[in-house]
Amino acid sequence: MSRPALTADCSACAALCCLALALDKGEAFAIDKPAGLPCPNLDGRSCSIHSDLDARGFAGCVRYDCAGAGQRVTQEVFAGRSWQDEAGLTAPMIAAFADMRAVQQRLELLAAAEALPLASSDAAERARLEATLWPDALTAGVLEGFGSGALAQEIDSFIAGLRRYVVTR
Ligand code: SF4
Repeated sequence: MSRPALTADCSACAALCCLALALDKGEAFAIDKPAGLPCPNLDGRSCSIHSDLDARGFAGCVRYDCAGAGQRVTQEVFAGRSWQDEAGLTAPMIAAFADMRAVQQRLELLAAAEALPLASSDAAERARLEATLWPDALTAGVLEGFGSGALAQEIDSFIAGLRRYVVTR
């Protein structure tokens, strides 16, 4: 088991950001789209204007990165299945995507902390906490509602305690 990728792999995802997230018409997006409805530019699991996003007014899509949450939900949680083939998966995949984004945010913080000159006890705790979020260790029960759960709070508290390692000028 090892740390999952912390960048998006759209080829392994069921286009969850294009479904789950809201788009607000403006500088970043050419249209308004409510959360939970598929973007009209979606064609199967691919974006029909992928090569032309900036010019078509979707710079926000170019900038967005789910930090690997989309492929983890699609592959780890739903074994490659998709809301596009099974309508009943739409709501649970949207919910799991929100939870997994919160997981990946913590993983990003814990990965960054690895570069700090941590005392051995903190280094061990960092590694322990990180491993709780790796594939196979992250149970469905922990994933559901993760952002407001006990493990997220434990990680947030640990990260906050690392401020003493950060030199400020
Ligand atoms: S424009 Fe393309 S990348 Fe952006 S939300 Fe729509 S389908 Fe997804």
